[in-house]
Amino acid sequence: MDNRRKWILLGLVSFSFLSIVLTFIFNREAPPVSALEIPQSTKDFFRKLSDLGHVKFDFVDSIDIGDFNNDNDYSSDFTELGDENFIVYYRNGGNEEKRAKQTLHYANEAIPELAAFFGKYYYAKDAKKRKLPIYLAVSEDDFSAISKKICGKSVEWAAGLTYNTYTTNGDKMCMGIVLNYNVQDGEPNDLKKVVFHEMAHYNHFQCMDLLKKNKYLNWEVEGLASFFANDWNKTIPTGTDITDYSLQKDPANYVDSYWMGYHAFGLAREIGQLSDILQKSYSESLMEAIPQQAGCSMSAYDNQWRAHCKRVLNSQ
Ligand SMILES: [Zn+2]
Repeated sequence: MDNRRKWILLGLVSFSFLSIVLTFIFNREAPPVSALEIPQSTKDFFRKLSDLGHVKFDFVDSIDIGDFNNDNDYSSDFTELGDENFIVYYRNGGNEEKRAKQTLHYANEAIPELAAFFGKYYYAKDAKKRKLPIYLAVSEDDFSAISKKICGKSVEWAAGLTYNTYTTNGDKMCMGIVLNYNVQDGEPNDLKKVVFHEMAHYNHFQCMDLLKKNKYLNWEVEGLASFFANDWNKTIPTGTDITDYSLQKDPANYVDSYWMGYHAFGLAREIGQLSDILQKSYSESLMEAIPQQAGCSMSAYDNQWRAHCKRVLNSQ
């Protein structure tokens, strides 16, 4: 073979090899873009939830790292009481300093319980060094004014509000928790229970992977917080016909989602599957997580739950 033919052959072999490599590269399955974005249905769910309830969600393109800094918190006319995990913002006067100390105490008391319940507690170090801000309102007007300053919205009837923001790249920020003036030790809106309920919302939101999970239920959000706080929302209204309800869909009346979820998680604990169901539920629907862990269909779990609720209703 003369030199010229050798070079032609070498060129052909090289070209074939390059073609194979390029074909492989260009035909590889591209990662689905949708997996990197929050589905519109998820945004719609959380926006609707924000309209109905006291946990507020916002979706933005990005949050500047500086916005996580507590120096940028709304703090006008507040005194601060803080530690490495929290900043309690309270008004001077009356019983407020004592209330602030109790709030800080309960918030820290909740940490190990949240860690055990959810599998992890999101400390400031896990939330871009952001300490969780808790605001104490001293009147109805004050509650409304603080809430609007933090997130532009308030809910008159709420004992507490929790404001969350989620970005397209998966960053999460809790702007703060606001407690109403009547949230006090020993009052119907018991301070410890409301702190535990709102912090459950905060931590649940931190646990959830909104980039993966694509089906949510109102009873999941409210029931979990009520179950963790063991609060008054577990009471099933007298006269409720349980046969009208199913865990496979949210109730027509939002307030029913509290007791529905409370007893759904109560049943999960009874069968020893609560923590495994929760771990799965951070990235997938409860409608998948429950049957997998309970070892039965969702319809069968629904039947067990209705029987469980009837027993609860009869013993209230
Ligand atoms: Zn709640």
